[in-house]
Amino acid sequence: MEIRDLTKEIRDRSIENSKVKELDRLATSWYQEDLLYSGKGKTIFLILPTPGCTWALGPSGGCTMCSYISDCYLKPIENDKIIELFGREFNKHDFKTDFKNGDKIAIKLFASGSFLNPKEVPKEARDYVLNKLANCDEISEIVVESRPEFVNREVLDEIFEIIGDKLFEISIGLETSNEETRLNKINKGFNNKSFEKAIDIIKEAKKDYNVKSKGYIFVKPILLSEKEAIDEAIETANYCEKIGVDRVSCCPATIHKGTLIERLWRRGSYQPPWIWSVIEVINTIRQNVEIPALMDTSGFGSRRGPYNCKKCNKELKYMIIESNFDQSQIEYDCDCKKEWLAEVKFSELTKSKTAIKHLPLY
Ligand code: SF4
Ligand SMILES: [Zn+2]
Repeated sequence: MEIRDLTKEIRDRSIENSKVKELDRLATSWYQEDLLYSGKGKTIFLILPTPGCTWALGPSGGCTMCSYISDCYLKPIENDKIIELFGREFNKHDFKTDFKNGDKIAIKLFASGSFLNPKEVPKEARDYVLNKLANCDEISEIVVESRPEFVNREVLDEIFEIIGDKLFEISIGLETSNEETRLNKINKGFNNKSFEKAIDIIKEAKKDYNVKSKGYIFVKPILLSEKEAIDEAIETANYCEKIGVDRVSCCPATIHKGTLIERLWRRGSYQPPWIWSVIEVINTIRQNVEIPALMDTSGFGSRRGPYNCKKCNKELKYMIIESNFDQSQIEYDCDCKKEWLAEVKFSELTKSKTAIKHLPLY
């Protein structure tokens, strides 16, 4: 069965079984320490309610690891409602008490899809949100996510007409520079040319605007061995730097409900990466490229996320978070490392895409 048919079937079933969501509960926000372009600071994460990613809702079924649409309304939303919920969340943050005077503050607007797609975030709501941020002196950086096909000069002109000289970063889920993996294992539906076109538009717009790009790198798509996953992630960061991406952020796989990756995981055909693999990836990327490289640690140490052993999961998670601020190398050792080394080595030998931990190879 083609990957699209399979993803679509799983997606449809998951939508069918999902409960009706209360719109008011879909918007949320929080803040945490983060690495900004201006250095260590704080980022407000704000989830905007949207009908859902058009790629996931369309005939493709969306990406094989993504369950964002389970947090979406799946029906059109009135502009006034988006504006009201944005206002409710934004006003929760008191810049006088939540943040210290002089704190560097960024805001990440999550649309659970593409912020730049007017079918997901209508222009009127987008303009309102950006206007509000433009008038907030404390916020210096605005970060959004988008698929590459929605990046164009016209939308950048519209945005910068409102936000002036604030920094605006567009994060794009490239996932991997390997087109075979992106198309046939992630079901992402765009090629390197489309990504490069979006990056070129951003590079060209830098002459006029304070615009930046970020590439998301997905660590360990389905049907890749542990070794292949490590190599592809490292290679992808090299590619991003080469074509002019401003920074990269690695997202190691976690198993989300209602996805193809979950189906393979349930049947023993897929395991999220070892935390050792994640460390190998981020250490090597930081040696290879000059652009900042971040590592997400969501789901670390859980049954559905990257895992080493009970002794080292937690400590390594905190070490990775800390290293994001100063871009340092992570040095650590634990007894479980030899198991990981064996898996990496033998996955090369056997070309196996599944874990070998039940084989007595070490
Ligand atoms: S990863 Fe992005 S493009 Fe893919 S289904 Fe999820 S939101 Fe849509
Ligand atoms: Zn360990």
